[in-house]
Amino acid sequence: MDLTTFNDVFPQPGETIFGKKFDLGFGGKGANQAVAARLCGADVAMVAKVGNDLLGPATIRNFESFGIDASCVGIAEAVSSGVAPIFVDPGGQNRIIVVKGANDLLVPEDVGAATPLLRKADAIVLQFEIPLPTVYHAVAFAKANKIRCIVNPAPAQPVDFARLSAAEYFIPNESEAQTITGMPVRTVDEAMKCACFFLEKGMRRVVITLGDRGCLLASKDATELIPAFRVQSIDTTGAGDAFIGSFAVFLGEGVPEKEALRRANLYAALSTTKIGTQKSFWSRADFEKEWQARSAQL
Ligand code: ADP
Repeated sequence: MDLTTFNDVFPQPGETIFGKKFDLGFGGKGANQAVAARLCGADVAMVAKVGNDLLGPATIRNFESFGIDASCVGIAEAVSSGVAPIFVDPGGQNRIIVVKGANDLLVPEDVGAATPLLRKADAIVLQFEIPLPTVYHAVAFAKANKIRCIVNPAPAQPVDFARLSAAEYFIPNESEAQTITGMPVRTVDEAMKCACFFLEKGMRRVVITLGDRGCLLASKDATELIPAFRVQSIDTTGAGDAFIGSFAVFLGEGVPEKEALRRANLYAALSTTKIGTQKSFWSRADFEKEWQARSAQL
Protein backbone atom coordinates (compact mmCIF):
# COMPACT_ATOMS: atom_id res chain seq x y z
CA MET A 1 0.00 0.00 0.00
CA ASP A 2 1.37 3.42 -0.96
CA LEU A 3 0.80 6.05 1.76
CA THR A 4 1.64 9.34 0.10
CA THR A 5 1.90 12.66 1.95
CA PHE A 6 2.29 15.90 0.00
CA ASN A 7 3.85 18.84 1.86
CA ASP A 8 6.12 21.87 1.53
CA VAL A 9 8.31 21.06 4.54
CA PHE A 10 9.22 17.97 6.53
CA PRO A 11 9.39 17.58 10.33
CA GLN A 12 12.62 17.92 12.28
CA PRO A 13 13.36 15.24 14.90
CA GLY A 14 10.80 15.62 17.72
CA GLU A 15 8.58 17.98 15.69
CA THR A 16 4.94 17.43 14.67
CA ILE A 17 3.56 19.40 11.74
CA PHE A 18 0.43 19.46 9.58
CA GLY A 19 0.64 18.14 6.04
CA LYS A 20 -1.25 19.41 2.97
CA LYS A 21 -2.66 16.30 1.34
CA PHE A 22 -2.65 12.53 1.75
CA ASP A 23 -3.36 9.70 -0.69
CA LEU A 24 -3.78 5.99 -0.01
CA GLY A 25 -3.22 3.80 -3.05
CA PHE A 26 -2.85 0.10 -3.70
CA GLY A 27 0.66 -0.55 -4.89
CA GLY A 28 3.56 -2.96 -4.89
CA LYS A 29 5.23 -3.96 -8.13
CA GLY A 30 3.73 -7.45 -8.29
CA ALA A 31 0.24 -6.14 -7.52
CA ASN A 32 0.53 -3.38 -10.12
CA GLN A 33 1.74 -5.84 -12.76
CA ALA A 34 -1.12 -8.20 -11.91
CA VAL A 35 -3.65 -5.38 -12.33
CA ALA A 36 -2.11 -4.33 -15.66
CA ALA A 37 -2.24 -7.93 -16.92
CA ARG A 38 -5.84 -8.30 -15.77
CA LEU A 39 -6.91 -5.05 -17.46
CA CYS A 40 -5.26 -6.35 -20.63
CA GLY A 41 -7.68 -9.26 -20.45
CA ALA A 42 -5.70 -12.14 -18.90
CA ASP A 43 -6.83 -14.50 -16.16
CA VAL A 44 -4.51 -13.49 -13.35
CA ALA A 45 -3.70 -15.04 -9.98
CA MET A 46 -1.52 -13.50 -7.31
CA VAL A 47 0.77 -15.50 -5.01
CA ALA A 48 1.64 -13.16 -2.14
CA LYS A 49 1.41 -12.41 1.56
CA VAL A 50 -0.27 -9.53 3.39
CA GLY A 51 -0.40 -8.65 7.09
CA ASN A 52 -3.29 -9.20 9.47
CA ASP A 53 -3.95 -5.45 9.73
CA LEU A 54 -6.40 -2.99 8.14
CA LEU A 55 -4.49 -3.04 4.87
CA GLY A 56 -4.19 -6.81 4.34
CA PRO A 57 -7.89 -7.68 3.78
CA ALA A 58 -8.34 -4.44 1.82
CA THR A 59 -5.51 -5.50 -0.51
CA ILE A 60 -7.19 -8.86 -1.08
CA ARG A 61 -10.52 -7.12 -1.79
CA ASN A 62 -8.75 -4.86 -4.28
CA PHE A 63 -7.45 -7.89 -6.19
CA GLU A 64 -10.93 -9.41 -6.16
CA SER A 65 -12.51 -6.17 -7.38
CA PHE A 66 -10.39 -6.50 -10.55
CA GLY A 67 -11.27 -10.18 -10.90
CA ILE A 68 -7.77 -11.34 -9.87
CA ASP A 69 -7.66 -14.74 -8.14
CA ALA A 70 -6.39 -14.03 -4.60
CA SER A 71 -6.82 -17.56 -3.25
CA CYS A 72 -3.02 -17.84 -2.85
CA VAL A 73 -2.64 -14.52 -1.03
CA GLY A 74 -1.91 -15.54 2.56
CA ILE A 75 -2.49 -13.44 5.68
CA ALA A 76 0.56 -13.49 7.98
CA GLU A 77 0.18 -12.95 11.73
CA ALA A 78 2.13 -10.47 13.84
CA VAL A 79 3.61 -8.54 10.93
CA SER A 80 2.43 -5.51 8.99
CA SER A 81 1.35 -5.51 5.38
CA GLY A 82 3.96 -4.21 2.96
CA VAL A 83 3.78 -0.41 2.99
CA ALA A 84 5.55 2.48 1.34
CA PRO A 85 5.23 5.80 3.19
CA ILE A 86 6.05 8.35 0.47
CA PHE A 87 6.75 12.05 1.12
CA VAL A 88 6.42 14.34 -1.87
CA ASP A 89 7.83 17.88 -1.80
CA PRO A 90 6.53 20.79 -3.92
CA GLY A 91 9.10 20.01 -6.62
CA GLY A 92 7.59 16.54 -7.01
CA GLN A 93 10.64 14.82 -5.46
CA ASN A 94 9.77 11.62 -3.59
CA ARG A 95 11.26 10.33 -0.35
CA ILE A 96 10.16 6.71 0.03
CA ILE A 97 10.67 4.14 2.79
CA VAL A 98 9.55 0.66 1.71
CA VAL A 99 8.68 -1.60 4.65
CA LYS A 100 8.32 -5.06 3.15
CA GLY A 101 6.45 -6.49 6.16
CA ALA A 102 4.52 -9.64 5.20
CA ASN A 103 6.16 -9.75 1.73
CA ASP A 104 9.35 -10.89 3.46
CA LEU A 105 7.53 -13.97 4.74
CA LEU A 106 6.67 -15.33 1.29
CA VAL A 107 8.83 -18.46 1.31
CA PRO A 108 9.49 -21.21 -1.28
CA GLU A 109 6.91 -23.42 0.51
CA ASP A 110 4.24 -20.84 -0.43
CA VAL A 111 5.19 -21.32 -4.08
CA GLY A 112 4.91 -25.07 -3.48
CA ALA A 113 1.43 -24.62 -1.98
CA ALA A 114 0.35 -22.69 -5.09
CA THR A 115 1.50 -25.48 -7.44
CA PRO A 116 -1.96 -26.46 -8.80
CA LEU A 117 -2.64 -22.82 -9.71
CA LEU A 118 0.84 -22.13 -11.12
CA ARG A 119 0.83 -25.25 -13.32
CA LYS A 120 -2.08 -23.76 -15.29
CA ALA A 121 -0.21 -20.53 -16.03
CA ASP A 122 1.11 -19.41 -19.43
CA ALA A 123 3.52 -17.11 -17.63
CA ILE A 124 4.94 -16.51 -14.15
CA VAL A 125 6.01 -12.92 -13.48
CA LEU A 126 8.42 -12.21 -10.61
CA GLN A 127 9.80 -9.09 -8.93
CA PHE A 128 12.28 -8.54 -6.08
CA GLU A 129 9.87 -7.30 -3.41
CA ILE A 130 9.77 -10.85 -2.01
CA PRO A 131 12.82 -12.81 -0.72
CA LEU A 132 15.27 -13.77 -3.48
CA PRO A 133 15.32 -17.48 -2.51
CA THR A 134 11.57 -17.50 -3.27
CA VAL A 135 12.21 -15.87 -6.65
CA TYR A 136 14.92 -18.46 -7.45
CA HIS A 137 12.60 -21.26 -6.40
CA ALA A 138 9.81 -19.95 -8.66
CA VAL A 139 12.22 -19.64 -11.61
CA ALA A 140 13.25 -23.29 -11.12
CA PHE A 141 9.57 -24.30 -10.82
CA ALA A 142 8.75 -22.50 -14.07
CA LYS A 143 11.62 -24.23 -15.85
CA ALA A 144 10.66 -27.68 -14.54
CA ASN A 145 7.07 -27.11 -15.70
CA LYS A 146 8.00 -25.45 -19.02
CA ILE A 147 6.20 -22.23 -18.10
CA ARG A 148 7.42 -18.90 -19.50
CA CYS A 149 9.04 -16.88 -16.71
CA ILE A 150 9.62 -13.13 -16.66
CA VAL A 151 11.91 -11.64 -14.02
CA ASN A 152 11.72 -7.93 -13.23
CA PRO A 153 14.73 -7.33 -10.92
CA ALA A 154 13.12 -4.47 -9.01
CA PRO A 155 14.04 -3.02 -6.57
CA ALA A 156 17.58 -3.76 -7.72
CA GLN A 157 19.80 -5.90 -5.55
CA PRO A 158 22.80 -8.19 -6.14
CA VAL A 159 21.66 -11.34 -7.93
CA ASP A 160 22.84 -14.89 -8.42
CA PHE A 161 22.63 -14.94 -12.23
CA ALA A 162 23.02 -18.70 -12.39
CA ARG A 163 19.74 -19.10 -10.54
CA LEU A 164 17.89 -16.69 -12.84
CA SER A 165 19.22 -17.97 -16.13
CA ALA A 166 16.33 -20.38 -16.66
CA ALA A 167 13.93 -17.41 -16.94
CA GLU A 168 13.02 -16.53 -20.51
CA TYR A 169 13.06 -12.75 -19.94
CA PHE A 170 15.06 -10.48 -17.65
CA ILE A 171 13.55 -6.96 -17.66
CA PRO A 172 15.22 -4.19 -15.60
CA ASN A 173 14.82 -0.45 -16.13
CA GLU A 174 17.87 1.79 -16.63
CA SER A 175 18.60 2.42 -12.96
CA GLU A 176 18.10 -1.22 -11.99
CA ALA A 177 20.42 -2.33 -14.81
CA GLN A 178 22.98 0.20 -13.59
CA THR A 179 22.75 -0.84 -9.93
CA ILE A 180 22.98 -4.56 -10.66
CA THR A 181 25.96 -4.30 -13.04
CA GLY A 182 27.73 -1.19 -11.73
CA MET A 183 27.88 -0.06 -15.40
CA PRO A 184 26.55 3.33 -16.55
CA VAL A 185 23.25 3.12 -18.48
CA ARG A 186 22.67 6.71 -19.58
CA THR A 187 22.72 6.29 -23.35
CA VAL A 188 21.31 3.65 -25.68
CA ASP A 189 24.90 2.54 -26.45
CA GLU A 190 25.60 2.06 -22.76
CA ALA A 191 22.32 0.17 -22.37
CA MET A 192 23.43 -2.15 -25.20
CA LYS A 193 26.74 -2.83 -23.46
CA CYS A 194 24.91 -3.50 -20.21
CA ALA A 195 22.44 -5.85 -21.93
CA CYS A 196 25.41 -7.76 -23.41
CA PHE A 197 26.85 -8.10 -19.92
CA PHE A 198 23.57 -9.70 -18.76
CA LEU A 199 23.69 -12.08 -21.75
CA GLU A 200 27.27 -13.04 -20.86
CA LYS A 201 26.05 -13.79 -17.35
CA GLY A 202 23.62 -16.31 -18.83
CA MET A 203 20.38 -14.33 -19.16
CA ARG A 204 18.49 -15.55 -22.22
CA ARG A 205 16.51 -12.55 -23.43
CA VAL A 206 17.08 -9.11 -21.92
CA VAL A 207 14.78 -6.11 -22.21
CA ILE A 208 15.99 -2.84 -20.65
CA THR A 209 13.20 -0.27 -20.41
CA LEU A 210 14.42 3.23 -21.23
CA GLY A 211 11.55 5.57 -20.26
CA ASP A 212 10.58 7.92 -23.10
CA ARG A 213 13.18 6.27 -25.37
CA GLY A 214 11.28 2.96 -25.35
CA CYS A 215 13.04 -0.32 -24.66
CA LEU A 216 16.04 -2.30 -25.78
CA LEU A 217 15.76 -5.99 -26.66
CA ALA A 218 18.91 -8.10 -26.55
CA SER A 219 19.44 -11.78 -27.18
CA LYS A 220 22.25 -13.84 -28.69
CA ASP A 221 20.65 -13.20 -32.12
CA ALA A 222 20.47 -9.39 -32.09
CA THR A 223 20.11 -6.17 -30.14
CA GLU A 224 17.39 -3.72 -31.11
CA LEU A 225 15.90 -0.49 -29.80
CA ILE A 226 12.10 -0.48 -29.91
CA PRO A 227 11.20 3.22 -29.80
CA ALA A 228 8.58 4.66 -27.44
CA PHE A 229 5.26 6.17 -28.46
CA ARG A 230 4.83 9.91 -28.01
CA VAL A 231 2.19 10.85 -25.46
CA GLN A 232 1.32 13.79 -23.20
CA SER A 233 3.06 12.32 -20.20
CA ILE A 234 2.06 13.71 -16.78
CA ASP A 235 3.04 10.99 -14.26
CA THR A 236 5.38 8.12 -15.11
CA THR A 237 4.98 6.18 -11.84
CA GLY A 238 3.97 2.61 -12.58
CA ALA A 239 5.02 2.78 -16.26
CA GLY A 240 7.45 -0.11 -15.77
CA ASP A 241 4.74 -2.22 -14.13
CA ALA A 242 2.29 -1.44 -16.95
CA PHE A 243 5.00 -2.52 -19.41
CA ILE A 244 5.78 -5.85 -17.68
CA GLY A 245 2.15 -6.83 -16.99
CA SER A 246 0.98 -6.07 -20.51
CA PHE A 247 4.04 -7.67 -22.18
CA ALA A 248 3.32 -10.95 -20.36
CA VAL A 249 -0.24 -10.90 -21.72
CA PHE A 250 0.67 -10.06 -25.32
CA LEU A 251 3.30 -12.83 -25.36
CA GLY A 252 0.78 -15.25 -23.84
CA GLU A 253 -1.64 -14.42 -26.63
CA GLY A 254 0.97 -15.50 -29.14
CA VAL A 255 1.85 -12.02 -30.40
CA PRO A 256 5.40 -12.13 -31.87
CA GLU A 257 8.05 -10.78 -29.51
CA LYS A 258 8.82 -7.47 -31.22
CA GLU A 259 5.17 -6.60 -31.70
CA ALA A 260 4.51 -7.59 -28.07
CA LEU A 261 7.25 -5.12 -27.04
CA ARG A 262 5.80 -2.38 -29.25
CA ARG A 263 2.38 -2.98 -27.74
CA ALA A 264 3.83 -2.95 -24.21
CA ASN A 265 5.58 0.33 -25.08
CA LEU A 266 2.20 1.81 -26.00
CA TYR A 267 0.33 0.34 -23.02
CA ALA A 268 3.02 1.76 -20.66
CA ALA A 269 3.13 5.12 -22.46
CA LEU A 270 -0.64 5.49 -22.09
CA SER A 271 -0.35 4.87 -18.34
CA THR A 272 1.84 7.98 -18.08
CA THR A 273 -1.03 10.16 -19.36
CA LYS A 274 -2.91 9.67 -16.06
CA ILE A 275 -1.91 10.21 -12.42
CA GLY A 276 -1.23 7.24 -10.12
CA THR A 277 -0.18 3.66 -10.67
CA GLN A 278 -3.03 1.11 -10.83
CA LYS A 279 -5.45 4.01 -11.36
CA SER A 280 -3.50 5.08 -14.45
CA PHE A 281 -3.71 1.75 -16.30
CA TRP A 282 -5.92 1.61 -19.39
CA SER A 283 -8.60 -0.97 -20.21
CA ARG A 284 -7.91 -3.35 -23.09
CA ALA A 285 -10.71 -1.83 -25.15
CA ASP A 286 -9.31 1.71 -24.84
CA PHE A 287 -5.77 0.43 -25.47
CA GLU A 288 -6.93 -1.36 -28.66
CA LYS A 289 -8.46 1.84 -30.05
CA GLU A 290 -5.13 3.65 -29.58
CA TRP A 291 -3.15 0.69 -30.93
CA GLN A 292 -5.27 0.51 -34.09
CA ALA A 293 -4.89 4.24 -34.69
CA ARG A 294 -1.16 4.35 -33.95
CA SER A 295 0.03 1.07 -35.45
CA ALA A 296 -1.45 2.18 -38.77
CA GLN A 297 1.06 5.06 -38.66
CA LEU A 298 4.11 2.86 -37.97
P1 ADP B 1 10.08 2.51 -14.67
O1 ADP B 1 8.66 2.94 -14.57
O2 ADP B 1 10.36 1.17 -14.04
O3 ADP B 1 11.07 3.56 -14.27
P2 ADP B 1 10.60 3.18 -17.47
O4 ADP B 1 10.67 4.62 -17.05
O5 ADP B 1 11.75 2.64 -18.25
O6 ADP B 1 10.35 2.21 -16.23
O7 ADP B 1 9.25 3.01 -18.31
C1 ADP B 1 8.80 1.76 -18.75
C2 ADP B 1 8.25 1.88 -20.16
O8 ADP B 1 7.18 2.84 -20.14
C3 ADP B 1 9.23 2.39 -21.19
O9 ADP B 1 9.98 1.32 -21.74
C4 ADP B 1 8.29 3.04 -22.21
O10 ADP B 1 7.73 2.04 -23.04
C5 ADP B 1 7.18 3.61 -21.35
N1 ADP B 1 7.38 5.01 -20.98
C6 ADP B 1 7.85 5.50 -19.80
N2 ADP B 1 7.90 6.86 -19.81
C7 ADP B 1 7.43 7.23 -21.02
C8 ADP B 1 7.21 8.51 -21.66
N3 ADP B 1 7.50 9.66 -21.03
N4 ADP B 1 6.72 8.51 -22.93
C9 ADP B 1 6.44 7.35 -23.58
N5 ADP B 1 6.61 6.13 -23.03
C10 ADP B 1 7.10 6.07 -21.77
